[in-house]
Amino acid sequence: MRTIKNVNFNGKKVLVRVDFNVPFDKQGNISDDTRIREALPTINKLVSDGASVILMAHLGRPKKGGFEAEFTLKPVAEYLSKLLGKQVVFTQELLGKEVSDLASSLKKGDVMLLENIRFYPEETKGGEELAKQLSLLGDAYVNDAFGAAHREHSSTAVIAKYFPNDKYFGLLMENEVVNLNKLMNNAEHPFTAVIGGSKISSKIGILESLLDKADNLVIGGGMRYTFYKALGHTIGNSLCEDDKIQTAQLLMQKAEEKGVNLYLPCDSVVAKEFSNEAETMYIDSMDIPDGWEGMDIGEKSIKQYCEVVLQSKTILWNGPMGVFEFPAFAKATNEIAKAVAKATVDNRAFSAIGGGDSVAAINQSGFADKVSYISTGGGAMLEFLEGKTLPGIAAIEN
Ligand code: AMP
Repeated sequence: MRTIKNVNFNGKKVLVRVDFNVPFDKQGNISDDTRIREALPTINKLVSDGASVILMAHLGRPKKGGFEAEFTLKPVAEYLSKLLGKQVVFTQELLGKEVSDLASSLKKGDVMLLENIRFYPEETKGGEELAKQLSLLGDAYVNDAFGAAHREHSSTAVIAKYFPNDKYFGLLMENEVVNLNKLMNNAEHPFTAVIGGSKISSKIGILESLLDKADNLVIGGGMRYTFYKALGHTIGNSLCEDDKIQTAQLLMQKAEEKGVNLYLPCDSVVAKEFSNEAETMYIDSMDIPDGWEGMDIGEKSIKQYCEVVLQSKTILWNGPMGVFEFPAFAKATNEIAKAVAKATVDNRAFSAIGGGDSVAAINQSGFADKVSYISTGGGAMLEFLEGKTLPGIAAIEN
């Protein structure tokens, strides 16, 4: 693997694509700095080698073409300066003489952040010229933006061709690739995948791919009601994708053919309306009465799911079991988090958590530091696990 780990970048100008697409609160403060912190090992390694580091990143989805105050990376540059304990040079432009002069004047250990790369509409189109111009700023290219690795953009993939002998995975990317490869190609059995979340439509690819890898497919979240309906149960007002009922049937059929145990919750916690304060009821079956909506999986399912998790040597968890944002319906998600942590610590299982909401859920449950690996990529992780080639990875490997 072409990683920065064993290379010394002393005296080089290194262009690094990072994922600084962080959320802001209403006051304009960064509300979750995880992505910035996760880029620090790569930045610090390059700085301590004596490289000058030129960071490229995007923020949000600017549409106009050109500067938009709402999407500037300036606050990120200021925040990064505090984390690094040194002033990060920030350029309001991406290209042009001012930027190339600044890049050339960087000294060993200096860090510079370019303005939001998506202010250039060519970026998301994978524009060659933009990639070429950016490449002129550095001697080497490092991709550390796993969250954007499923995009074939100028700065995430196209640019790599201008560095045929000097392109590398950053430390975060390397960690993602190693762990995800382990999960998909080298998993110890029993391998259990716990898949939840709201929609079956966004998880079909991963469910299909897991049918060839996992021993147990444990289903929770709102997507289970499409399976219930496919089995002829009533689902009240629960979430359902009617156009995916056939898909659910097919998935169940394939699981049976391949000898994969597909678990559906046998009980539910339902509510009169979609709210934390709603009137609730426990349903000891797969039939939800009219006027009620499934919000969490029930006690019996929690017990069964935790037992399956605790008997596993490999666990992948993607998607919450219920509407965990409401404390009244977070129980199953928290219990699964606890079981995944216990399997990891007590039974030395390898556990991987991925997808924005599952990461939020494991953080909320307080067990984040007890699992083997938390992926930083939502869409990128799903696509990797679906067996797709990610352009950001292929560009470095090939
Ligand atoms: P996803 O992004 O597809 O992983 O879905 C995550 C979302 O699924 C979270 O916001 C949960 O609140 C939601 N969710 C989980 N269970 C249910 C449910 N029973 N009904 C509606 N939404 C749910």
